[in-house]
Amino acid sequence: MKVLVVNCGSSSLKYQLIETKTSEVLAKGLVERIGLGEVEYSFTHGQKPKTKIGIQAKNHTEALKEVLGKLVSPDHGVLTSLDEIGAIGHRVVHGGESFYHSALITDEVIKAIEANGELAPLHNPPNLQGILACKEVLPSKKQVAVFDTAFHQTMPERSYMYALPYEYYEKYKIRRYGFHGTSHRYVAMKAAEFLGKPLESINLITCHLGNGSSITAIAGGKSMDTSMGFTPLEGVVMGTRSGSLDPAVLLYIMEKENLTPKQMSDLLNKKSGILGLSGISNDMREINDAADKGNHRAKLTLEVLVHSIRRYIGGYMVELGRVDAIVFTAGIGENDWVVREMCMANMENWGFVLDKEKNRTTRGTLTDISLSSSKGKILVVPTNEELMIALETQWVLEGKE
Ligand code: ADP
Repeated sequence: MKVLVVNCGSSSLKYQLIETKTSEVLAKGLVERIGLGEVEYSFTHGQKPKTKIGIQAKNHTEALKEVLGKLVSPDHGVLTSLDEIGAIGHRVVHGGESFYHSALITDEVIKAIEANGELAPLHNPPNLQGILACKEVLPSKKQVAVFDTAFHQTMPERSYMYALPYEYYEKYKIRRYGFHGTSHRYVAMKAAEFLGKPLESINLITCHLGNGSSITAIAGGKSMDTSMGFTPLEGVVMGTRSGSLDPAVLLYIMEKENLTPKQMSDLLNKKSGILGLSGISNDMREINDAADKGNHRAKLTLEVLVHSIRRYIGGYMVELGRVDAIVFTAGIGENDWVVREMCMANMENWGFVLDKEKNRTTRGTLTDISLSSSKGKILVVPTNEELMIALETQWVLEGKE
């Protein structure tokens, strides 16, 4: 089936047309600055080189019409007719407690996405705009919402409740939700396939380390715990996000610096993490280069980052009891051998022994980077969230989970 995967931001529309039978990406593109005057549209369709053009698009519906036009156009088309699109899969950030699985989009589902908008005010409303645009332009197509949070809805209460007065859970649904669910689920499936074992029979720790990072404990294919919480700010140190810290720290800074909640949120989300601590960049490549040249703060940033990751790996080992594989994925996880080597140091007693040579040469390919004598496997598994959304879309239509 050909699935159009759509991911809408407040002024952007990102898409991929995927043939699920072969996992082939037939076309992909990005429309940016929607509603902001000069709208930029870049796309790669078929084997043709990447093309960049300026278009008119006051809203997501107009942007979508441009995209669909290009998918069937004589010069850039990859389809003879839009009838060839089997379904549309949408990335939706927050499913709250309403969605344990991806869902066929109905009026009720749209209402639930709207209701969960309060939990993700920057993401759910634009995700919904994309859904409504597709409904308007392609009313006969089946649409599916794939939520970042749904995979983690299997977490037990003990993992997702904060020790706050219970009324805040009841009044405002304050609890841990977790994110990156599509990626964690995809790499878990791929890891099981690679190990030649049913996913239901193995326990995994999946480390999605990108600009945003999260670590998940997965037992028998189900998320048992994950490092991100009520928002994607909790957990390990990230590109520009602090990750977990003593909540008293932010009250103290707000008072001292006379900051509003919005300013404090910007500080924690945009100016902290790898960028804030290093004062160099949010990009690990630059941190590694500076650390190699002996820069103290770059070295410190690497150490603090890795320490925060190992805390979760250690905690999840205890929680899962037995871990068959630790999986690294996303920009840092797939490419940064230094971070992987530091993360897996001195784990022999826990049954994990890294093949240092293999680790150094592995970048972006599905590889077992543990020694053959290692009881637990250490895997690099490239993530593919768009493919997972396309597959989940097809499974929903086929009545599978
Ligand atoms: P996002 O969370 O935005 O999807 P990615 O998963 O693409 O991010 O990860 C982006 C990050 O991955 C970059 O900021 C950079 O820190 C890191 N990264 C990408 N390539 C490399 C590399 N070759 N070596 C080290 N880090 C890398």
